[in-house]
Amino acid sequence: MSDAPAIDEEELRSRVRALLEVVHPERADYVTFRRAQFDHGLAWVHFPEGHGGFGLSPKMNQVVRDEIQKNSTVYYDDPPAGLIGIGMGAPTLLTYGPEDLKKELLPRLFTGEDIWCQMFSEPSAGSDVAGLATRAVRDGDEWVVNGQKVWTTVAHLSKWGMLVARTNPDVPKHDGLSYFLVDMEAPGVEVRPLYQITGEAEFNEVFFTDARVPHSRMLGKEGQGWRVAITTLMNERVAIGSGGPKKKGSGAISQLLKLWKARDHNSTSPAQTAVLRDRVTKSYIEAELLRLNSLRASAIAKSGNPGPEGSVNKLFQAESAKRLWETAIDVLGADGLSFEAGYELRQEVGSAYDPEGRSKYQFLRSRANSIEGGTSEIMRNILGERVLGLPGEPRVDKEIAWKDVPRS
Ligand SMILES: Cc1cc2nc3c(=O)[nH]c(=O)nc-3n(C[C@H](O)[C@H](O)[C@H](O)COP(=O)(O)OP(=O)(O)OC[C@H]3O[C@@H](n4cnc5c(N)ncnc54)[C@H](O)[C@@H]3O)c2cc1C
Repeated sequence: MSDAPAIDEEELRSRVRALLEVVHPERADYVTFRRAQFDHGLAWVHFPEGHGGFGLSPKMNQVVRDEIQKNSTVYYDDPPAGLIGIGMGAPTLLTYGPEDLKKELLPRLFTGEDIWCQMFSEPSAGSDVAGLATRAVRDGDEWVVNGQKVWTTVAHLSKWGMLVARTNPDVPKHDGLSYFLVDMEAPGVEVRPLYQITGEAEFNEVFFTDARVPHSRMLGKEGQGWRVAITTLMNERVAIGSGGPKKKGSGAISQLLKLWKARDHNSTSPAQTAVLRDRVTKSYIEAELLRLNSLRASAIAKSGNPGPEGSVNKLFQAESAKRLWETAIDVLGADGLSFEAGYELRQEVGSAYDPEGRSKYQFLRSRANSIEGGTSEIMRNILGERVLGLPGEPRVDKEIAWKDVPRS
């Protein structure tokens, strides 16, 4: 990416206008426009030329967005189920994939024609994902996969799954893993929904029974799976951590302020109201800190993959979101106790049970924020050890062959 052509902001804006002359979102469907955007290098401007970008700084993506929105009433954002593929799969494929796979799959990721999922966690391997047990055994030009994954978000919508599997049990856990792209429609791959407290099943269990994966769909080399997985995980933390407000006072905090303004402040004692006002104010300050921290992170972001500091915003986003939605429920008072009529189990992503600002839904959903993408405890470990340089926690299984590590 260092041999990037010199494209400044003005030149980038003129390239966006040139794209809009050829194909315009007001007159083209989603896939047609996004495909043209990709072919013009305006999908991810920080990606190399030929792969949807020009090797520019990631913050220049905002320039593309601004210029399209200035010239069109229609804006085609990333597909709702595309966060994992676009935020985590694309940079992993770019870094470790063979050229033909990048050419084939990157455009389809951007157009939403292919949704991707991440198959890392297992029933006995979440925080300690390097200890996972799903096995892949080589058979000629293919790998035969057996095992089970869990909490696999959007697996039911996915064409491709990023799989980390154990290819060598005779070496320590981090050294015996390999990373594959799995066709989710292939025989031997079974997806079963898991329902959450929100009523949705955004995630699933995935079972592999003699599923065959071509060797050509391995990302990185055999035994390099942990390194490849770290690239996915670092990008995941940045993708989750940058989900805060884009404009001052926007997003979740604006919902809380609306509820606060609509509240009957005489319904509780002045002291209780004052305490609640303090919590609303604190959430406002936290939302602003999150926004400013995201801006700072994107201003210093270089092209390439993020480092462990991406965990700062991931941790802060998770914990502040939980505080914000707990405050929202307390502002609602007794109304906060009831869930909307029509609560049902359904397999959608982001379905709206709570038209009045979704605060009851978000209160339940935000429980997951400090678990998904690595728990808050694990984020604190990463920040302590890899950013602050504190002593590491004991890792007794580090030098032992995976097959010899005692497990229940
Ligand atoms: C909404 C949602 C979506 C998800 N989507 C995906 C997905 O698409 N793909 C995927 O692969 N996974 C996904 N996950 C799984 C997620 O990554 C794991 O749940 C998470 O890493 C925790 O693993 P675990 O559930 O096995 O908990 P455990 O690892 O068993 O942890 C249990 C508790 O112990 C604590 N703990 C564990 N180890 C330590 C330690 N060393 N130090 C201090 N505390 C520790 C944890 O913080 C936690 O509180 C998703 C989870 C959620 C909630």
